[in-house]
Amino acid sequence: MTTPRKILESRGIRPLKRLGQSFLGDRNVISKIISILDILCDDVVIEIGAGVGIMTEEIARYAGRVIAIEIDPYMVKILRERLKDYLNVEIVHADILAFDFSSVKHSLTNKKVKVIGNIPYYISSQILFRLIDYRSDISCMILMFQKELADRLTAGPGTRKYGIPSVIVDMYTICTREMIIPGDCFYPAPKIISAVLKMVVRDTPQIDLKDHELFFKIVRISFSKRRKTLLNNLRSLTRQGYTEKDINQALQISGIDGSRRGETLSTEELGTLSNAFLLVKYS
Ligand code: SAH
Repeated sequence: MTTPRKILESRGIRPLKRLGQSFLGDRNVISKIISILDILCDDVVIEIGAGVGIMTEEIARYAGRVIAIEIDPYMVKILRERLKDYLNVEIVHADILAFDFSSVKHSLTNKKVKVIGNIPYYISSQILFRLIDYRSDISCMILMFQKELADRLTAGPGTRKYGIPSVIVDMYTICTREMIIPGDCFYPAPKIISAVLKMVVRDTPQIDLKDHELFFKIVRISFSKRRKTLLNNLRSLTRQGYTEKDINQALQISGIDGSRRGETLSTEELGTLSNAFLLVKYS
């Protein structure tokens, strides 16, 4: 059976660490990951970092259309060769951090796209935040992360791992951990353990946010110094046009005690707080 190792060795290609190349060869694991995405025959699936295309091939058996994005020209060549008989697969040679997800939705279908990827770990957070920026074009994402990051993304308030990424993910998606994948399922085998997360994009964010930018800002400020109280952290807003009175008023409107630590606030509370700041500014 073809494995990533055989495909690469037969062409004399070595995986590039710098591009986070670590290929998943175990077909059982691949099938399980794909089944989590629940692919329908009219779905458009975008695969991030398709590599040698073993997962791409499997997705192509179920999806109406697959867009496989890959930055490495050698991989693109392999993908074009290996997948040439799949008329529903389009291989795009591009950097995922420059890819416009909305172009796909608008040119191919009006349905939101599904996203899947054993994504390169050196840019996993950047990819995730970019996907969240494009949330209105995406219905669901299945992404593989280093387990430590996956733990942070799924952490709840008051825990050590809870932080900015946990709140952002929870505001816009319903995120669940689906699988743990040991290093030896990959070629070359990394020392780390991976985890697969499913993120179903919410139709509307958990709270009706009046200003998304302001929400991001309030979250960042609330977590800026973890040992300080929420009120102390929020005081940095006095350098950004808010008065001490505005800050106290926003806390009061949202019913949040400023002596709490920022990291104890739920996503909902942080959303409410950011809406309150907008209110006090325009009252
Ligand atoms: N999905 C494949 C490969 C995973 S390795 C598998 O499971 O076997 C990660 C892949 O992402 C590599 O093929 C790497 O070349 C690609 N990649 C790295 N940086 C990228 C970027 N910025 N944009 C698109 N692809 C990238």
